[in-house]
Amino acid sequence: MLKMRKAECNMKILPIIVGAVIAAIIPHYYLYKRYHYICSGCSKAFKPNSFFISMFALNGGNYRRVRCTHCHCKAWAKLEKDSIENS
Ligand SMILES: [Zn+2]
Repeated sequence: MLKMRKAECNMKILPIIVGAVIAAIIPHYYLYKRYHYICSGCSKAFKPNSFFISMFALNGGNYRRVRCTHCHCKAWAKLEKDSIENS
């Protein structure tokens, strides 16, 4: 009887966890699609090769610690919105 209750409880929590994960991914996906980074080393604009690099990067306001695709140095890069002609 106790096992049955635990299973019911898990079934109620699961959609909440899935919802929270989706709610966390959507803003990151938006950032990945609409924003690019300015490398602090070479000052060139770049986009990370993968969405997951952008998602799991250390985050400090408008800056993220990502690897530049031009000079390959890992540094704090400034987040900037893509201009209309680039998107
Ligand atoms: Zn660079």
